Amino acid sequence: MGLFSIFKRSKGNLKGNVAFIGLGYAGKTTILNRLRSNEFVDDSIRTMGLNVDAFEYNGIKFSAFDLGGQETFRMIWEPYVSNAIAVVYVIDSSTPDLFEESASVLHNVLSYIPSNATLLILANKSDLAGPDTLDQIVSAFDFYKLQTTTNLARINIFYVSAKTGDQFEDAFDWLAESVTKTIVLQSKR
Ligand code: GDP
Ligand code: MG
Repeated sequence: MGLFSIFKRSKGNLKGNVAFIGLGYAGKTTILNRLRSNEFVDDSIRTMGLNVDAFEYNGIKFSAFDLGGQETFRMIWEPYVSNAIAVVYVIDSSTPDLFEESASVLHNVLSYIPSNATLLILANKSDLAGPDTLDQIVSAFDFYKLQTTTNLARINIFYVSAKTGDQFEDAFDWLAESVTKTIVLQSKR
């Protein structure tokens, strides 16, 4: 798959695909709703398979693929993830019992995230979890090792709440900046 199927500059606008993945109930759809409307929408309808959406953030037009997190749907992630300029991996910070499972799911996905993509890990639902939860997640995911041993252009983790909006903008400002740098770098080649 060529570079320009992953992202394009069109009419001076930056464009890219972003895939939202993670276990079911982590908050993927809620995060996407906040990106579109800037508010908390309590959408309790389960994502069956795939929702396609679009949003604009800091001048970048994203096509968003909100991919169902239940085990049966994880096999459909690969084509979306492998064509993404950014991958948002969402963790439910209020369910420590699932950190190990979620970490192993992410490690499987790493094999097909493009090496020039940005990976934003969101420890979501910080409003429901304690102050030491982020440390637990960082260690369950072996985050620092992940950061030094993967070929991904950029990888970062933020402790956010899609409900209160805490740290939400910081996370997506970082993502947009990282994606912009990647696009500018690639277009100079
Ligand atoms: P998905 O399966 O990953 O798409 O998860 P959803 O977006 O459907 O979210 C699952 C549930 O968690 C819903 O009831 C959301 O309202 C709730 N939720 C999502 N993000 C947050 C958050 O940051 N804080 C709290 N308290 N609830 C959240
Ligand atoms: Mg969903």
